[in-house]
Amino acid sequence: APAAPPACGDAGPRPPVRAAIGLGANLGDAAGRLRAAFLRIDAIPSTRVLAKSGLWRSAPVEASGPDFHNAVAIVETRLDAFALLDALRRIEAGAGRERPYRNAPRTLDLDLLLYGEARIDAPPRLVVPHPRMAGRAFVLRPLLQVAPDATIPGIGPAADQVDALAGQRADPV
Ligand code: AMP
Repeated sequence: APAAPPACGDAGPRPPVRAAIGLGANLGDAAGRLRAAFLRIDAIPSTRVLAKSGLWRSAPVEASGPDFHNAVAIVETRLDAFALLDALRRIEAGAGRERPYRNAPRTLDLDLLLYGEARIDAPPRLVVPHPRMAGRAFVLRPLLQVAPDATIPGIGPAADQVDALAGQRADPV
């Protein structure tokens, strides 16, 4: 999406940062929701999608219901991590309005996985790298499709983590 005009008192454009966003959906047309979410992420101000993983299918973790569909987007953004998270929450909320009934499982889950090489420790609002990403095959497999050299700050190469997760079901759709 085109850059927003600088706010008054802005220090000027910040250098772009590469970030990884995890997408998940498990209701209705999950694959269609993920494709729509990629478009909405690309429409976030000062942000563009550089790469989209394929879609993956995984068993629900800490949730109930049908299989999840998962994907990862690599973006380049000039937003800071908190503003990027806020934009993701708004996209989730938009998708949430399509919930078929009250308290239905979430239709769209967007996680900020990586933000450059940053480590951000501002719980409960924002923790980056996403604290559970290194143990989830449904995050690491799509991430490695689009960023084979991805490193999880404080942990190490994503490729080294995925080997330990061979028992987790996560298959390309
Ligand atoms: P969940 O419902 O599991 O998606 O959790 C959403 C909550 O986690 C939100 O209130 C976020 O502010 C918070 N959160 C903390 N770190 C992250 C992150 N890296 N990505 C997405 N949400 C996060």
